Amino acid sequence: MSNDCIFCKIIAGEIPSTQVYQDEQVTAFRDINPAAPTHILIVPNKHIASVNDLVPKDEILVGHLFTVARKIATQEGIATSGYRLIINHGPDGGQEVYHLHLHLLGGQKMRHKMG
Ligand code: AMP
Repeated sequence: MSNDCIFCKIIAGEIPSTQVYQDEQVTAFRDINPAAPTHILIVPNKHIASVNDLVPKDEILVGHLFTVARKIATQEGIATSGYRLIINHGPDGGQEVYHLHLHLLGGQKMRHKMG
């Protein structure tokens, strides 16, 4: 846990969130400023600042983020209609919170392909 990380505090329950899933490896909660009807962040429970900080032993954890995303998409009823998964990295990628997170967006037709 990083003491000055907002997502670490959410995972620890020190800051409130609308949690939709948690297991030993990851936590998922609704984005506070949703960009789509369904907008959920899936985050590793251990503090990893960004994609640049991943190491080979994190590969199973990163795969787990995706299988949890698929599970939550089903729970949210958007698995068939479709959804978008996004990871932003660094200033040009638009990363605002430096705790790795996978955005799960759905419930509407996404307008932009990229950029
Ligand atoms: P990113 O730009 O990829 O770093 O995304 C960070 C996301 O975290 C944004 O979509 C924010 O709306 C979201 N966010 C920031 N603070 C909170 C919070 N306390 N609870 C839920 N989502 C948050």
